[in-house]
Amino acid sequence: MQVPPFSLGEQLRQLGDALDSAVLEVLRSGQYIGGNTIAGFEQSFAAACGTPHAIGCNSGTDALILALRGLGIGPGDEVITTSFSFFATAEAISAVGATPVFIDVEDDTYLIAIDRIEAAITPATRALMPVHLFGRPADMERICAIAAAHELRVIEDCAQASGAHWAGQPVGSWGDAGCFSFFPTKNLGAAGDGGAVVCRDPALAQRMRELAVHGMPRRYLHTDLGYNSRLDALQAAVLNVKLPYLGSWVEQRRAIAERYQRELDDLPGIALASIGPEGHSWNQFVVRVPRCPSSGVACAGRCAPSSDSADFGLPEACCRDWLKQQLQEAGISTIIYYPIPIHRQPAYANLGYGPGSLPVTERLCAEVLSLPIFPELTSAQQDAVIAALRQLVGADKSSAVAA
Ligand SMILES: *Cc1c(COP(=O)(O)O)cnc(C)c1O
Repeated sequence: MQVPPFSLGEQLRQLGDALDSAVLEVLRSGQYIGGNTIAGFEQSFAAACGTPHAIGCNSGTDALILALRGLGIGPGDEVITTSFSFFATAEAISAVGATPVFIDVEDDTYLIAIDRIEAAITPATRALMPVHLFGRPADMERICAIAAAHELRVIEDCAQASGAHWAGQPVGSWGDAGCFSFFPTKNLGAAGDGGAVVCRDPALAQRMRELAVHGMPRRYLHTDLGYNSRLDALQAAVLNVKLPYLGSWVEQRRAIAERYQRELDDLPGIALASIGPEGHSWNQFVVRVPRCPSSGVACAGRCAPSSDSADFGLPEACCRDWLKQQLQEAGISTIIYYPIPIHRQPAYANLGYGPGSLPVTERLCAEVLSLPIFPELTSAQQDAVIAALRQLVGADKSSAVAA
């Protein structure tokens, strides 16, 4: 059986007619930029996030940039975030002229190490940018308390966490601004690029709305240097069809994740994150494959050194890479989010974070593997993933060595 890491096939079968008519309606209206379809989506999305305002824009990356600019963050300012994330998290900070300050993540949640935030605060720090990585919500009560004590802004990177909540309150509604991506593989995906930023403060909402359209409060009056970063009406039409399903899709993801958790928990060659909070929205289900010989289980000594470890000064990823390849040969596609941490990327060489500077992040990059998860993953497909893992990793140490 072939199991893809992600597939839209079944969703498109189920929603095809509704998507066709929503898209055709916009196409035939001729109203492609601005208009009711977009305003309607923004209202519904704001309601889903529990915030009064949502501003559609053209990507999750731009949502972060708009939030940073809207809050007045720019050259000379520092923003504390994590390096175990998609590159755009830091890239947005740099794009506004500020400097990303990376701190390590927690070993059991993969999220920003809250205990390390205060030590990283300097007189130049203006904001905290926690990432709800893989759909797992960060502890926003603690993060907001630290921010309040130090008069910092909080910008939540919610790109992977549509539908997640912390303590019963949606992510994105805790900080000053919450930034979402509608990239097709995210929990709420458009048919192309799209994003939104949500907030409570009406003045901030207005500033971000203007920045997204050339810093233009009214036609051809430009009070700021902004961007061309609108959400298209065609994308808003797609999102209007899909948004009502977000809750049930997250439930389906959760059921899949709970089954993985149950059935993989005892495998000796792999490790799982601590059980997530109730509001986890499971954009990814990630296992860790520690390297040999400390585990000595996954590859039973058959794996080869990997090039990323040499090229980027990272821990050896041989067992993880071996397992990924073996799963691929069994028809099961997995993805590595992320093989190279942001602080070790060539683009950030100037920041001077050497090998070993963020040890948990670096080890995770060498060990993580994301298993297939999407709402329509069938139980037969999940059976195949679990069976292949049990066979490759071994339900116990003796069977792996014998394999
Ligand atoms: C996807 C993603 C982004 C960027 O979103 P785009 O819509 O692709 O620009 C930012 N941060 C994280 C954590 C992401 O996963």
